[in-house]
Amino acid sequence: MLHIDGSEGEGGGQILRTSLALSMITGTPIRIRNIRAKRSRPGLMRQHLTSVQAAAQVSGAQVEGAAVGSMEITFTPSAVQPGEYSFAIGTAGSTTLIVQTVLPALLCAAGPSRISLEGGTHNPAAPPFEFLDRAFLPLVRRMGPRVETTLERAGFYPAGGGCLRVSVEPVGTLTGFNLLERGEIRERRATVVLANLPPHIGEREAREVAKLTNWEPSRIEIRRVDSAGPGNAIVLELESEALTEVFTAFGEVGVPAETVADKVVREMRRYLAAGVPVREHLADQLLLPLALAGGGSYRTLLLSLHAKTQVDLIPRCLDVRIEVEDGEDRTCLVRVEPYKR
Ligand code: AMP
Repeated sequence: MLHIDGSEGEGGGQILRTSLALSMITGTPIRIRNIRAKRSRPGLMRQHLTSVQAAAQVSGAQVEGAAVGSMEITFTPSAVQPGEYSFAIGTAGSTTLIVQTVLPALLCAAGPSRISLEGGTHNPAAPPFEFLDRAFLPLVRRMGPRVETTLERAGFYPAGGGCLRVSVEPVGTLTGFNLLERGEIRERRATVVLANLPPHIGEREAREVAKLTNWEPSRIEIRRVDSAGPGNAIVLELESEALTEVFTAFGEVGVPAETVADKVVREMRRYLAAGVPVREHLADQLLLPLALAGGGSYRTLLLSLHAKTQVDLIPRCLDVRIEVEDGEDRTCLVRVEPYKR
């Protein structure tokens, strides 16, 4: 039994999800205490509970403490079963974070799987659908497996009601990669996603993005989507020789459309100025897949607490060592290497 203190490091949902993923993959029972102790509403929220339930279904696990508000769970997995799964969060909680929990185990499973998820698909503080589809999954595919996602319906906070599907065809062994240089930027695209809101919001955002970036209008699309409630996000994509990075900002009541555009463009500029291929979010999300592949490396900005938490946790369960070497101008080199304990 592996004991994990959920208040360590980022002390939120990340340590819970990574612990569940590691438990499923290694077949090791875990007990997690102090779940989300560093959050204002600690314990399992609906989205985290769905992660626990999804992980339990996929790995035939016995679970104690799986209830909303619970701060301690014991999770005893048996074998990971590939197959067809459907998970509904029941709130606008993020479906992509459920994917983050179960995908690593399904990538290592003995056969293909298809999962269908209901809840939020565009949540602040979680990977939006476009990030999953265009930044993260292409890198997972580079490791060998076939993984595809489709957005059936967008779900924004607070109405939720979105639907996402993911299909996974594992390969025997994952192959890691090195992302050390970004190379030339080959493509630039912006999508303004708009659900049940007046068209002028999307138009103003598109105009502001065009003004701030000087991109031609053909690179900027306004996509009106079907959704249960209102919602708005601006998604910028930069495709470089090394990878595609995705930047998102969300529209909020009381925040002018121009401010939302300004925020996301600033984020993109910070990335361009930093010169590294991998940005904050991919930096934490690539660690587990690279560890499963037995190695790989990337250059990124100084690691977030989310990433540092995983740098500490993953080598406790898998035969890898993760080295973080500080570089110039607040950058670092992350190296995942095989290591026999
Ligand atoms: P937590 O805060 O523990 O719920 O974890 C949030 C997860 O969502 C982390 O893996 C973050 O990297 C990821 N995340 C948050 N915001 C974004 C974003 N804008 N784009 C992509 N991933 C994100």
